Amino acid sequence: MKILLSTLHAKYVHNSLALPCLAAACQGLEGVTAVIREFTVNEPSDHLLRALVNEEADVAAFSCYIWNITETLKLAADLKQIRPETFIILGGPEASFGVFELMTRHPAIDCVVRGEGEETFRELIACLAGSAGGRDLLEHVSSGITCRAGEDIVASPDRTVIKELDCIPSPFSAGLADLAKPLVYYETSRGCPFSCAFCMSSLDREVRSFTMERIRCDLGILMDRGVQTVKFVDRTFNYSATRANDIWAIILEENRTSRFHFEIAADLLTEENFRLLRRVPPGIFRFEIGIQSGEDETLQRVGRRSDLARLFANVRRLRDETGVVVHLDLVAGLPGEDFPGFLRSLQQLIDLLYCGDNRRGEQFHIQVELLKVLKGSPMRKIAAEENYAFSGAPPYRVLRTPWLSFTEICRIDSISRLIDLIINSGRFQTVLAQTATARPLSAFFSAAGDYWNNAGHSAGLSQSALFETLWRFAVDYLPEPELEGFRDALCFDLCLAEYPSVTKLPGFFKGKGCVQKGNTREDNAAYMQKLEIPPGSRVRSFRHGFDRDFLSTPWENGPAEFLFVYISAPGRGLRVEVMKV
Ligand code: SF4
Repeated sequence: MKILLSTLHAKYVHNSLALPCLAAACQGLEGVTAVIREFTVNEPSDHLLRALVNEEADVAAFSCYIWNITETLKLAADLKQIRPETFIILGGPEASFGVFELMTRHPAIDCVVRGEGEETFRELIACLAGSAGGRDLLEHVSSGITCRAGEDIVASPDRTVIKELDCIPSPFSAGLADLAKPLVYYETSRGCPFSCAFCMSSLDREVRSFTMERIRCDLGILMDRGVQTVKFVDRTFNYSATRANDIWAIILEENRTSRFHFEIAADLLTEENFRLLRRVPPGIFRFEIGIQSGEDETLQRVGRRSDLARLFANVRRLRDETGVVVHLDLVAGLPGEDFPGFLRSLQQLIDLLYCGDNRRGEQFHIQVELLKVLKGSPMRKIAAEENYAFSGAPPYRVLRTPWLSFTEICRIDSISRLIDLIINSGRFQTVLAQTATARPLSAFFSAAGDYWNNAGHSAGLSQSALFETLWRFAVDYLPEPELEGFRDALCFDLCLAEYPSVTKLPGFFKGKGCVQKGNTREDNAAYMQKLEIPPGSRVRSFRHGFDRDFLSTPWENGPAEFLFVYISAPGRGLRVEVMKV
């Protein structure tokens, strides 16, 4: 019997952990072969259907999430029409809730595996390989499935969670995970000790960990193979500070070239954690830290236990004492938070990044997400009580709350996209640090979001158009005395982002009238000798004067001239070096 395990990712770079785990769980079943096929939601549906049909599988199992459920259901229906004999199974968080309704509306679906999949899926496949169907399935698979029995839809009870995670076969040891992708997902634990109402992980409070031997072995495979980025999907990786330190110590000892991404609760970090984190080379660890809201009352209303004062203090310590890259998350639309409250929350995050005129943003990202009122999450009950409006279709995004109008939700959405373009792109660090010295950046982003919306700009501006648009917004928004400082910083950022072609300098650059002298190859040669330039590189340089020394800490007022050197080579991208001359 051939099983096809498939999913549709949001982006090509993503990689499935669930499918290799299910394939590993089915290893050793007599007469069963499994193939994994991963696609993206953006691929043409006829191409996807052809690929699925060509597999000629007896069983097709799909891993379902909010970003792929609509397309998956359509594909499953089409597949069933062409191959009625294929038994179609759905699993994953988006299939595990509201199953009766889902199966009633989608007759192509033969069975849904609810909750944690490995044990249930193995039993189900063993049963199908022995040709059981209908009510017989329920007899053999005693928990965790909903299936059809004639005209009826029948369900077995929920399965209890797997207590000893080591009994789940390793997809890495079995060679079933695609380690060539730039991002490989990996888990060392399941469950979360916290219970935030908007999160599906709040339903799985029983935290279980693989043993340290198993973790050492799996991680060893990933590091030996030189996986580019290992993304830990543990819901709160450092729920135990000692366990986190033990795993980080393994990485410090054995890592070669990989980078590692963890979701952590920053308020749980301990002195021992910091002692170890100070030894991690810069840029190797990335921490995703959910702040969600800076308002205590809002956090309490969704049952989120966070010590915000300790959390912010520890993020500052990560910034000042370690080379960890920090990614801070906010969720907009939580109960009790209005638009000014959202801006206050955002400002608290920004204050962690831009202190004084130092450019500290390189190490930080901010992500603002609109609340999703997920199926099966406790947030659904709160939303009903508080009269929320949210989309009935995945991803169930909030549309209005008693505290935020639809217009304010749209404004927050624009701010979120601008934060991505302006903070997370890393291309405007000088401008941001400069602007933060005079005004709260949350107000700047709020006004910029409105400007972008009114001008009808999309997120897809070219780099030069983005610089020009930001300048036009600044002319509208900033008082005259601030404008020159903004222009100076914007010119510096432009020089860091790309080689400014002298014949195509943007308007704000041309108008500056700065001093440019000694810009011959010979003048610059002495400076460029200090740089390591790989053979075969293309090297260009640009020399320019500014009103401040942006390389000093703190910035010094007064004329300063810099040489920007642009080094590029096929496959290596662009490297920009800057030095004072
Ligand atoms: S938001 Fe984070 S801390 Fe809260 S329940 Fe979900 S995973 Fe756990």
